[in-house]
Amino acid sequence: MRTEAQAVVIGGGVIGCSILYHLAKLGWTDVVLLERDELTSGSTWHAAANIHGLHDSTNISRIQHYTMNLYNSLEEETGQSCGVFQPGSLYLAQTEQREHQLKLQAAKAKLYGMNFYEISIEEAQKLHPLVNFDGIRCVMYEPDGGNVDPSGVTNAYAVGARQRGAEIHRFTPVTATEQQADGTWIVKTPKGDIRTPWVVNAAGLWGREVAALAGIELPLQPTEHQYFVTETMSDVEGHGTRLPSVADRDGEYYLRQEGQGLLVGAYEKDMRFWAEDGTPLDFAHDLFPDDLDRIEENMMNAIERLPAVGEAGIKRVINGPMIWSPDSNVLMGPVPEVDGYFCCNGIIPGFSQSGGMGLMAAQWIIEGETEYDMFAWDLARFDGWATKDFTKARVQDQYAHRFAIHFPNEERSAGRPARTRPVYETQKAMGAVFGLNAGWEHPLWFSDTPGAVETNGFTRQNWWGPVGEECKMLRDRAGIIDISNFAKYICKGPGASDWLNAVFANTMPKTVGRSCLTPLISKRGGIAGDFTVTRVAEDEFWIIGSGLAERYHKRFFKQVPLPEGTTFTSMTDAICGFNIAGPKSREILQRLTNTSLATEDFPFMRSARIELAGIEVLALRVSFTGDLGWEVHCPTEHQSRLYTALLEAGAEFDAGPVGSRSLMSLRVEKGYGSWSREYSPEYWPHEVGLERLCKFEKEFLNKGAAQKVLQNPAREQLVMLHLDAEDVATSNADATGGEPIFKDGQGIGRVTSGAYGYSVGMSLALGYVKNAQSGDAVEVMVLGRPHKAVILHEPPFDPLGRVLRE
Ligand SMILES: Cc1cc2nc3c(=O)[nH]c(=O)nc-3n(C[C@H](O)[C@H](O)[C@H](O)COP(=O)(O)OP(=O)(O)OC[C@H]3O[C@@H](n4cnc5c(N)ncnc54)[C@H](O)[C@@H]3O)c2cc1C
Repeated sequence: MRTEAQAVVIGGGVIGCSILYHLAKLGWTDVVLLERDELTSGSTWHAAANIHGLHDSTNISRIQHYTMNLYNSLEEETGQSCGVFQPGSLYLAQTEQREHQLKLQAAKAKLYGMNFYEISIEEAQKLHPLVNFDGIRCVMYEPDGGNVDPSGVTNAYAVGARQRGAEIHRFTPVTATEQQADGTWIVKTPKGDIRTPWVVNAAGLWGREVAALAGIELPLQPTEHQYFVTETMSDVEGHGTRLPSVADRDGEYYLRQEGQGLLVGAYEKDMRFWAEDGTPLDFAHDLFPDDLDRIEENMMNAIERLPAVGEAGIKRVINGPMIWSPDSNVLMGPVPEVDGYFCCNGIIPGFSQSGGMGLMAAQWIIEGETEYDMFAWDLARFDGWATKDFTKARVQDQYAHRFAIHFPNEERSAGRPARTRPVYETQKAMGAVFGLNAGWEHPLWFSDTPGAVETNGFTRQNWWGPVGEECKMLRDRAGIIDISNFAKYICKGPGASDWLNAVFANTMPKTVGRSCLTPLISKRGGIAGDFTVTRVAEDEFWIIGSGLAERYHKRFFKQVPLPEGTTFTSMTDAICGFNIAGPKSREILQRLTNTSLATEDFPFMRSARIELAGIEVLALRVSFTGDLGWEVHCPTEHQSRLYTALLEAGAEFDAGPVGSRSLMSLRVEKGYGSWSREYSPEYWPHEVGLERLCKFEKEFLNKGAAQKVLQNPAREQLVMLHLDAEDVATSNADATGGEPIFKDGQGIGRVTSGAYGYSVGMSLALGYVKNAQSGDAVEVMVLGRPHKAVILHEPPFDPLGRVLRE
């Protein structure tokens, strides 16, 4: 066994083996995988191993398509069969909502050149004569869908990795992972120790236990999961060719051919957790007792759709464990607080995603960043707030709604509230409907009826009207928005200015009271973040960024050593903020302070510590609404007092609370981008319009990468679109993000944010396009159907930025 390695992968399931294979493929051949038992000893060996390309997230679809294509080439490369069957998959829509979802997916597939399209019921009937298509509204066909052999795939990765020089040691449990003073790790096993700069936790069902060896806690919870296989069925045997798999997600089951029978699996409502206090270390190729009663409802749905299933005998039942994260996406990436420790845990569709997951992990470890934006999969999206109780509640909800449609803007209630701020109860009493942001409850919109629950769908929902009222109130008079979700940091000390200049691309303000906007540049030269930095004293700066991305940004901040005597501290919990915006915002605030807020005394992009209603706040003259406005930030303990004072002063001007749904609409009217939608590491500064904020006369993090990408022409441009009023009225839907954009039948881009602009009376979208310019007529695939749209030359609200500066 090697005693030194470039990386040590812990766990020989399908994911660990894929990571090992991809590390070797990308050039790291001095790598080792340690498996405590045989390969496949966790969830892998008993999986149904269906493979799909369809996913609501575009990048996950890309990764799933990469994986499906990889299996065939892996067989050729290694000579090891992956047991690939690709008879295709039929996706059935029983409801209008499902039809919207599938049509949107088909439009995305067309844009990205993926194989997923609509076929007629007659064609579907020919492909799968056992299915009763009564009541099916539409059918999509994915010719590459099917299934693989779980052991075959895992072994093929293992063979491929070994052929490239990697080592695999079976029956070699990792008993300790100890970080050394120089940052490297000693990975301990009964067969000896290995020193490595990278530990990769791919321990699947034991992800929590292996993480704990390094003092890391992962929000994961295993559950049971069942499928059954029927005896040979004459209809299947007689069909001649292999039948396509059936994704009848409204029926809450999955189904495919297995041998000469069928395999049916279900995510039942009456689910069962397993190993809540830790996965037993002696569990290997084990299963749980059958419990088909639990999945009876799902089975009945399958029998209704395929009556032959009801007549077949059951040959075997598999009830095995799988491990989930709170949102059922993988927990992936380097742990921000621990150098050289990479996790890839909690993967549900391991066989649909193993290839892409392995590739992304290898890119991240070797190249420092993935080619796709992986934020939705990044373990940094959770933090200590995702407690065991929260995780369990979310996992239960995710499991039981595995096949439910996840609508745009949907907020699931399980496990909440996790974190609240002092004004939570007040907001609740005022009718706030809350969303979840980095664990915090924050108002999405305010209803007339306290306790109101929002409806979900692809079309306009019950919040659409009230949000319009909030937007109009703010644009006509003023609104008070809780912006406590923003991440807030204070950098203090003699080296603060130098350090911030070394981290951020823009030049930091030289004068106290000035603010600047700045991008943070990613390893590949994309946009890793956008921040407002304010100099509040000679040696003190306030930095405000995306709250969701706080843990993600930690990885960047720690790359530049802090000068001695200088501190950088997160104040997100300790400080709360409100944005008071709209034409009357100055008058409202002026009622509460003696500091003059007149433009000559307090111009745009300036800041000052002022007293507001007797509370010391930091006031910044900025507003993400694009309107006249101030952000005011105070210690959390004063949040309630400040809110009450603002609401009272606002009431005099008929101004009131405004939620974050409105903020979305207001910032889209103004054309402002937002992190994780318009700004992401996938986009280059000149594609986003932030290149003027990169100051190349100084050094900053990843400057070389930014310089390099700026030498290339922009691949796409961020533009604003106005959707045709009649088309939008017919659909009763606005764009929400992700919808493909076509021009003359060619896919040219996609929407990143969409909203109705209430104050300008236009349905709007922001998006990335290529080969198009302002004035061009295009089509946006809202609900998967073409909606006429035109690319705007400038934002419809205050294009010259006058009201901001007034
Ligand atoms: C009934 C069922 C049906 C499924 N159907 C499908 C499907 O149709 N399609 C699909 O894509 N996915 C399916 N899955 C999910 C799929 O099985 C998982 O996504 C996948 O197997 C996860 O693989 P993994 O490598 O992350 O984890 P695991 O398979 O759990 O592997 C982890 C490995 O780590 C090893 N290990 C743990 N601790 C240590 C240690 N200390 N030292 C060394 N080694 C260690 C374990 O022995 C194990 O071999 C199904 C799962 C179940 C339960």
